[in-house]
Amino acid sequence: MSIVAADIGGTRTRVARIDGGGRITARREVPTAPGRGASVALRELGGLIDALAADAPDRLRGIGLSITGPVDTATGVVDNPYTLPGWGAVDVVSPMRDRFDVPVGLLNDADAAAIGECAYGAGRGAQRLVVITIGTGIGMGVVVDGVLQRRADGAHAEAGHHLIDPGGPTCSCGGHGCWEAVASGQALVRLAQERGFRVPDDITDPDERTRRFASAVAAGAESAEPKALAILHEIAWWIGVGLVNTAAFLAPDVIVIGGGLGVRFFDLMAPTTQEVLRRNHGMVRTDADLRVALNGDDAGLFGAGRWMARTLDGEPLCRTPP
Ligand SMILES: [Zn+2]
Repeated sequence: MSIVAADIGGTRTRVARIDGGGRITARREVPTAPGRGASVALRELGGLIDALAADAPDRLRGIGLSITGPVDTATGVVDNPYTLPGWGAVDVVSPMRDRFDVPVGLLNDADAAAIGECAYGAGRGAQRLVVITIGTGIGMGVVVDGVLQRRADGAHAEAGHHLIDPGGPTCSCGGHGCWEAVASGQALVRLAQERGFRVPDDITDPDERTRRFASAVAAGAESAEPKALAILHEIAWWIGVGLVNTAAFLAPDVIVIGGGLGVRFFDLMAPTTQEVLRRNHGMVRTDADLRVALNGDDAGLFGAGRWMARTLDGEPLCRTPP
């Protein structure tokens, strides 16, 4: 059986063929270049899937799509003009279903990452799993007893925009003091600039700017530069505050931290985050096991593939591979 999974992020679109054991057997990758519009990108995505399906040992059975930002899983519509300019109210499922005549599933990328970690990564064995992805923003996926949790309207939880600091900095969503405004790449870039870190002015892509500033802070942290360590300490502290709030509502037994920044700085930030959790442990249980994500950039691919396998065969979402 062959399933093709695609993970469309703000910077890169990655496509992989996944076999029945959950192993990636072939992959392709192209820049997303969102400014050129969704229809061009979807035609290109179709070409990548064609190429993977053409040399597969068996026929294509389904396609799982993981996409950054708000998605409507029921209608197959992505509405993300925030981080994918040109992708406002775009039906991504119908063009793929029409072209390939197989079932097509759609997930938010944090939900896909949560399924990927639950099935094949650091979330294995968890009963109440929370996976957060920390990059330019913060995403969250929740899996309880092997079931992906969603809001009543079917959408994923916008945990990155839960209010942490009402007097805090402006968020990319227009709000003030959202979790991701104080605890993600947005915060890292702001704090790094305030404290004298610089990257070339001509780098305007938000994800690339975040990566450049993260590299500058990482280099400083490696040489124990106090201002670099202070930035990571502050972000880690706010991550902990958001996780205490999360624990009050969801009582997770395992929290997995993923995403580019979350994984890169896990060892440096986890002690501070853990300290905030420990301080607030009482009636609200905040003693979840804090783990680093294991699937790296492939979490979304694994999750989208697993989601489609479950749709096709009714297999449990979080089956451990043989
Ligand atoms: Zn926000």
